[in-house]
Amino acid sequence: MEDMILQLSYLIGSVTFIIGLKMLSHPDTARKGNAIAAGGMTLAILATIFLYRDESGVPLHNYMWIFGALIIGTVVGTMVSKKVQMTAMPEMVSMFNGMGGACAMLISIVEYRHLMENINTHTPDTGTMTVVVLGMLIGTVSFAGSMIAWGKLNGSIKDRTIPGGQVINFILFAGLITLVIMVVGGFFPEMPALFYGILALAAIYGILFVMPIGGADMPVVISLLNSFTGVAAAFGGFLYDNPVMLTGGILVGSAGTILTILMCKAMNRSLKNVLIGSFGGATAGGGGGAGGEQGSYKEISLNDTAVLMAYAQKVMIIPGYGLAVAQAQHTCHELEKILNEKGVEVQYGIHPVAGRMPGHMNVLLAEADVPYEKLLEMEDANDQMAGTNVVLILGANDVVNPAAKEDPSSPIYGMPILEVEKADHVIVNKRSMKPGYAGIENDLFFRPKTSMLFGDAKKMLQALATELKQL
Ligand code: NDP
Repeated sequence: MEDMILQLSYLIGSVTFIIGLKMLSHPDTARKGNAIAAGGMTLAILATIFLYRDESGVPLHNYMWIFGALIIGTVVGTMVSKKVQMTAMPEMVSMFNGMGGACAMLISIVEYRHLMENINTHTPDTGTMTVVVLGMLIGTVSFAGSMIAWGKLNGSIKDRTIPGGQVINFILFAGLITLVIMVVGGFFPEMPALFYGILALAAIYGILFVMPIGGADMPVVISLLNSFTGVAAAFGGFLYDNPVMLTGGILVGSAGTILTILMCKAMNRSLKNVLIGSFGGATAGGGGGAGGEQGSYKEISLNDTAVLMAYAQKVMIIPGYGLAVAQAQHTCHELEKILNEKGVEVQYGIHPVAGRMPGHMNVLLAEADVPYEKLLEMEDANDQMAGTNVVLILGANDVVNPAAKEDPSSPIYGMPILEVEKADHVIVNKRSMKPGYAGIENDLFFRPKTSMLFGDAKKMLQALATELKQL
């Protein structure tokens, strides 16, 4: 009976994961989806703690350790999530992902020790050994890599190209494969040093593999490492014959892989280019690259901007990474409300990779209570562009760069962009003429329809709101 309830809870848990994941795909339902999946996970954990029995019918017993860890994890996780800034989200995801990898690694170490303790009476089969070793290897790479990604995103670790890094990684990889074959094949069953050798090499590999990747490419890497953690957790599911762990791992693994592919596609780059290319590395953080300026651009005053917007029928705001850096989302929503009061229709055009993580702009604007129906996906925004009087670009650069459509030699050629030039007027707010993440010039700034409004996004929006109120 107890086993039936346990299996039923696992089934419910697995179904909630799938429903939750589906609901996460829309901002309207995302919070609820997250809560449903978390509820399923809680049920599966509690059912395991109280209803699980091993082959001899013995239940779990070390409740002090289990609940001690659960309480510490819950308190720390809740506090960190409540405190985190929206711009620091990728680094938190990286840290949490690393913890998942570490769990998979520890599970494998514990299970390996069990196997070794009983080796005289029971020779481990190849299947079990494969699952233990691969779970540990992938979990360790994910843990070590995620910690480096976390350090890079919070600025404590700088991007560093290691001389001969690729050759070293190749040698490490070959070494790992050799050791895995030796351990899984059972050639030296009495030598745990080989198993711990895999642990050490996997940790070094994880560090070296992430170290040279540009800071701004980290979201893609984190998503990739996320899929590794999912696979490692799925190995844990095999090991314990636990369907909910298996489902969860597979879902995380496949979602991470799909997200990695989608991000690469939206940037029109291959995964290989992200992993070994230096694109974006030097200019991470919005600007700072060289690139000589071309032609002349015209500036617009705050007052003229306010007049243009106040007398428009339709305004489209294009948020970018600079909006996130300036933390201008609330001010932006204020401006939108003022314009609405003046009878101006305001919408937001959201590029899939605007900002520094997928969905960055949606989350940021949702945080400022911008209604979801005002957020248009890129295709819809482009459809509406022709009937728009004023486009206001706030700290976005690459995602509106016409070179992506017009210049085959551009590194971003082929990346879909927001076609802002179809609107009557384009106003670009940024602090200087410096390039964005891709480190390239943007010809849009020099075109006849475009006017530059220089300054920090938050300060400019505050000033713009004041001007508008006076009109
Ligand atoms: P960009 O990085 O292209 O441009 C941001 C612009 O914001 C800069 O040119 C900068 O100009 C300006 N800026 C910085 N701070 C401020 C501020 N305080 N106030 C006003 N402006 C500011 O951003 P986009 O959003 O247009 O493009 C995103 C880029 O990131 C794409 O290339 C994408 O491929 C990449 N990327 C996206 C990922 C994702 O998942 N979303 C993941 C990895 C990369 P200035 O210095 O002159 O102010």
